[in-house]
Amino acid sequence: MSDCLFCQIVAGSIPSQNVYDDADVMAFLDIRPINPGHTLVIPKRHAENMLVSSDEDLVKVMGVIKKITPAILRAVGAEAFNLGCNTGRAAGQVVFHTHIHIMPRLATDGYRLWHPREDVPSDLNGIAEKIRKEIEKT
Ligand code: 5GP
Ligand code: ZN
Repeated sequence: MSDCLFCQIVAGSIPSQNVYDDADVMAFLDIRPINPGHTLVIPKRHAENMLVSSDEDLVKVMGVIKKITPAILRAVGAEAFNLGCNTGRAAGQVVFHTHIHIMPRLATDGYRLWHPREDVPSDLNGIAEKIRKEIEKT
C-alpha cells in the first residue's frame, strides 16, 4: 500500500537501517528505540495487523525473530528481550502494517512493562468460560 510507512520502507523509498531482508520478511531498527538494538520485524506483504496477516507470513516472521534475536543481543550487549505486538489503537499501535518489536533488555534499564490492576474482580473462572465459548464459535 503506497500510503503505508512500512510498505514504503519495504520499497526502499523511506530509508531504514536494515538488519535482515529476505523475500518475505524484513527487520530494521526502530527510529525511537527503547534500548539500543530495538528492532521491528515485518512481513513484506501488507496487512493492518497480525490478526489479518496470513499464518504463513506469521510463521516466517517468528522464524526470523528466532534467528536474529540472539545476534541482536550479542551485538548490543543485552541479556534478555521482550517481544511486542501492539494491535489496535488502544494498545498503542500507530503503524498499521503488521510488525513485531524485538526489545533488548538489561537488568539495569529500569523498565517495568506490566502492572496488574487492583480494581478488577478476579473472576478467572467466568472469564475463561466466556473465552472458551467465543473460541468455539470461530
Ligand atoms: P507501534 O506503536 O505501531 O507498535 O510501533 C511503530 C514503531 O515504528 C514505533 O516504535 C516507531 O518508533 C517506529 N517508527 C515510526 N516511524 C518510523 C520510521 O520512519 N522508521 C523506523 N525505522 N521506525 C519508525
Ligand atoms: Zn504496509
